Amino acid sequence: MSWFSSVEQGPPIEVFALTKQCTEDDFPQKVNLGVGAYRTDEGKPWVLPVVRAAEKALANDETLNKEYLPVLGLDSFSTLSTNMLLGDDSPAIVEKRAFGVQSLSGTGALRVGAEFLAKKLGKTIFYYSTPTWENHRLVFLSAGFQEARQYRYWDQGKRGLDIEGFLEDINNAPEGSVIILHACAHNPTGCDPTQEQWEKIAQVVKHKRLFPFFDSAYQGFASGDLDKDAWAVRFFVSQGFELFCAQSYAKNFGLYNERTGNLSVVMNNPSEIAAVKSQITLTIRGMYSNPPSHGARIVSHVLNNKELFDQWRGNIKTMSSRIIEMRKRLREELERLGTPGTWNHITEQIGMFSYTGLNEVQSEHMVKKYHIYMLRSGRISMCGITPSNVEYVAKSINETLT
Ligand code: PMP
Repeated sequence: MSWFSSVEQGPPIEVFALTKQCTEDDFPQKVNLGVGAYRTDEGKPWVLPVVRAAEKALANDETLNKEYLPVLGLDSFSTLSTNMLLGDDSPAIVEKRAFGVQSLSGTGALRVGAEFLAKKLGKTIFYYSTPTWENHRLVFLSAGFQEARQYRYWDQGKRGLDIEGFLEDINNAPEGSVIILHACAHNPTGCDPTQEQWEKIAQVVKHKRLFPFFDSAYQGFASGDLDKDAWAVRFFVSQGFELFCAQSYAKNFGLYNERTGNLSVVMNNPSEIAAVKSQITLTIRGMYSNPPSHGARIVSHVLNNKELFDQWRGNIKTMSSRIIEMRKRLREELERLGTPGTWNHITEQIGMFSYTGLNEVQSEHMVKKYHIYMLRSGRISMCGITPSNVEYVAKSINETLT
């Protein structure tokens, strides 16, 4: 007799299964382009020097202890995070109608925000782009949303944004639906709306009274410029929207496993903040009670110190420049080989990922024949490409397509 006989095997999570498969592969030229984690030119994980410096300072600080943090997290961290997202001169900051809640990285911010919207505001329908980060659906449905709907985003033919489809789909959304918007460096396509397109999106969101829930997993990491990557969120704030934004420090601080994030909340009426905070407190209390301190202290320490802040910006520049350089190299190689199709999208896309345009069969062929691990959707992580494997990757794509 077992309580568990009725449990069915769940489907594997593609990106983690791929990493495992790659780790177990002993082919010398194998390349992991699956997981979204930064790698150096030598293909190694990178702990940011500014993070090492902060960790040393924190380790020597005898005033710090291991007592519980408050349910909403470290105050200095969440305030600095929200300010960094919105900009110090944001009307929402000046008018004291924005605040932050420390979360378990970006995923945790999405989950807490979604659960608040579903359980305290009675929201039932959310919209996400086709395609989107594979976890949005699961996070929102687990948080209590009842219906997942999609808006068109990627046009495979033009290898770019389907703005007409996007606007049409959200224009047909029922009033009050929640819409997930990628703040920058759309995952998986690497393709963002232009500023003019964002203006059109904002008009429809306002007209249809949708609730914008931004997902900002790549601020600074995408373009190398923190302000530029926050443009869309700041634009919505300037247009008077109330909104949520999930921030992750996984990529821009390299704090992947420290689970360091923030849920920024922008409201119209400062007198309603206390009630909202009290309900988010209950949401978190029933979920994990309170967050861990290590990553939040690192981020807070750096954002609070002008010298370290500048150093961090330098570290971000190192990462984003390397990725931009690898985009150039990959495109050059593909064009040099005369690979069928056009490859300008590789350099036009932004952020960690590139949607190559390879279909499922071709992507699987890349894995099986060349030991180049990439998602079935044709998504590759640009971080896995290095000066020593870019020619091999391009050659393999070329052979797959010819
Ligand atoms: N949203 C998007 C679009 C992402 O790409 C990621 C990271 N892959 C996340 C959220 C959250 O990641 P984390 O929970 O590690 O911060």
